[in-house]
Amino acid sequence: MKKTKIRRIGVFTSGGDAPGMNACIRAITRAAIRQGLQVYGIEQGYKGMIEGKMRPLTWHSVSGILQLGGTILKSARSDAFRTKEGRAIAFEQLKHFGIDALVAIGGDGTFRGALEFMNEYDIPIVGCPGTIDNDIYGTDYTIGYDTATNTAMWAIDKIKDTANAHDRLFFVEVMGRDAGFIALRSGIATGAEAVLVPEQIVTIENLLAKLGRILSHRRRSCIVVVAEGDELGGAIDIAKKVQGQFKDYDIRITILGHIQRGGSPTCFDRVLASQLGIEAVQALLNGQTGVMIGKRHEQIVQTPFEKAVKYHHELNPTLLKIIDILS
Ligand code: ATP
Repeated sequence: MKKTKIRRIGVFTSGGDAPGMNACIRAITRAAIRQGLQVYGIEQGYKGMIEGKMRPLTWHSVSGILQLGGTILKSARSDAFRTKEGRAIAFEQLKHFGIDALVAIGGDGTFRGALEFMNEYDIPIVGCPGTIDNDIYGTDYTIGYDTATNTAMWAIDKIKDTANAHDRLFFVEVMGRDAGFIALRSGIATGAEAVLVPEQIVTIENLLAKLGRILSHRRRSCIVVVAEGDELGGAIDIAKKVQGQFKDYDIRITILGHIQRGGSPTCFDRVLASQLGIEAVQALLNGQTGVMIGKRHEQIVQTPFEKAVKYHHELNPTLLKIIDILS
């Protein structure tokens, strides 16, 4: 661990935006100011770092953002930062603005970028996990996941009303990339009849048999929540495979899409983001670098970026069983 004299930190949001990122920016800014540091906000993640889009953040400039979705610093993906030349320019920009440490709020791609950067340049970086997918190793929950899951639950509840009214079989696709966290939790919370997640292989034959059993009990409707990264395909593909198998039921598809990214963060996400942000600043001041701040079993923990990007956050198998028991 290297003790560094840090005077000015830069904070940025990178990768997919997630509700609660603003709460984290606020926490980092205020915790740092309390410790006598200056804070710069870097716009559009690594893209803005390369382009020199940075501005001072003050105690007051982050007031009123705690409850806002999105990110006041904007987010972006940057191909230029994947190159040595791009990272060299980014480092020059940080030097130009006098920034001597960074807090990165983002997903595993963001931490991969941070690792590359730290291997080449002497700049401390600490990360806060911000992504709706909850797919990051080293934390039970990522910032934005709880809000996204509640949004999915809210939307599926409404779909269920209309599904019931017309005896329909609905395939509802939710986000999560290669992870099924949003699908599983929103499926349990809405009493979905089936949930398809990438972590559990289900053949089309298995699915048809399950739906056949469920629909033969003359249910009014049936909801299947599909994670966008499921092996069987997205909701459209799966609905095509099921088409014509259940004559009494109309099939409908809803893709929830970006609605899951927006909106005011839940209480859970606001508190998580605030706590992780404060701890990230403290970690930098303690001389730590190359670690992601997370929360496991209610304890704040640090995970080296190498591990956070190498390992997967596994779905809880007990939760997977709930759907089978209850549907
Ligand atoms: P989300 O999980 O919400 O998608 P993320 O942080 O994983 O968020 P990515 O698009 O994967 O999002 O990564 C964000 C940015 O990090 C990329 O656009 C790129 O600029 C940088 N990055 C990712 N991987 C690397 C890498 N191996 N080397 C350098 N930079 C990288």
